[in-house]
Amino acid sequence: MRRAKTVADEAEILKALESVSGPGGKSIVAAGLVSGINVSGGKVFISLTGDPARAKELEVLAVAVEGAVKTVPGVEAAIVTLTAEKAPAAAAAAPPPGQAPQRRPIAAIEKIKYIVAVSSGKGGVGKSTTSANLALGLAALGWRVGLLDADIFGPSAPRLFGLGGKKPDVVDNRLVPLEAYGVKVMSIGFLVDEDVPMIWRGPMVVQALGQLLGEVAWGELDALVVDMPPGTGDVQLTMAQQVPLAGAVVVSTPQDLALIDARRGVAMFQRVETPILGIVENMSYFLCPHCGGRTDIFSHGGARQDAEALGVPFLGEVPLDLAIRQTSDAGTPVVASDPQGKFAAIYIELAEKVKAALETRTRRAPPKIVIG
Ligand code: ADP
Repeated sequence: MRRAKTVADEAEILKALESVSGPGGKSIVAAGLVSGINVSGGKVFISLTGDPARAKELEVLAVAVEGAVKTVPGVEAAIVTLTAEKAPAAAAAAPPPGQAPQRRPIAAIEKIKYIVAVSSGKGGVGKSTTSANLALGLAALGWRVGLLDADIFGPSAPRLFGLGGKKPDVVDNRLVPLEAYGVKVMSIGFLVDEDVPMIWRGPMVVQALGQLLGEVAWGELDALVVDMPPGTGDVQLTMAQQVPLAGAVVVSTPQDLALIDARRGVAMFQRVETPILGIVENMSYFLCPHCGGRTDIFSHGGARQDAEALGVPFLGEVPLDLAIRQTSDAGTPVVASDPQGKFAAIYIELAEKVKAALETRTRRAPPKIVIG
């Protein structure tokens, strides 16, 4: 492994950043644009935080910052991530008036066979838990699998995979995904400190996604599971348009309100012509650990009925269970920590259905370029 002889310290990085001028000619440090510096060996992670309305300028600054930081002895690679100041969520997420989020396919993912989005209409329904266990389930079926935690509002893959506090290596200017239980993992949470504000708008999402997808050495993968940000706003729509998705899985709990959101999720993917692989009902029922009895806490079955009504496949039910929560929160997801157990069996069955659905559909062909 390449090792720098000297390791830069934060003060040296800060000095280099002072040489970069921001809007109005002021140094970006004095202008308060630098929200985080993290030095990890020869790698330096910088977050720039600014006004979401000036995202384009920040993008230009990011390039200058990268150049300046790389001049510091001992720095092998600089990763700059843009985030925006806290602002009213609706205004922050919206693309410029009258402008739909643009479609800009991200390069360097040719070696990934299927990219699968896992989405939910709202937060807290178990989207990340499902993403992690689905990825592990696909790996258990013999696939080479990556998990991209694109939940820029609340990245959870570092915790779920027991990789909290770790920083990815950078080789030839590309981030090397971390690995856990045989799955390659990349998360915005590895690049941006937890206390950095995370409100984004279109161009920033493009930049962050570009980093996570195109600037990561994923290698050859059968499937990349993308844990999407919850909801169906412009940020999610931009992502769904940016990534050449082979299909989408929508996670919902059985309550009526969650199902309304899940329907919006299905509609969003249909709008960008992404095949819906199916709906998963999470926290579907409660199995009593003492007596083994089953309780349908939220009148279970709503997601199955909704899937039928919407004409999309129903992929299965995952019970509400303490073991699922505990293993997720401990960084040992249930498919990895108890692969022969009853919950692993549920997720592996889900993975089988997703795998079969992917294999029966061919990935959308890239647009043909005709010259002359
Ligand atoms: P989301 O990504 O939708 O916000 P998470 O996957 O982070 O949701 O789940 C939210 C919380 O619910 C976490 O603490 C997780 O461990 C727990 N959880 C998710 N699914 C289950 C389940 N089937 N049984 C028990 N707890 C669950």
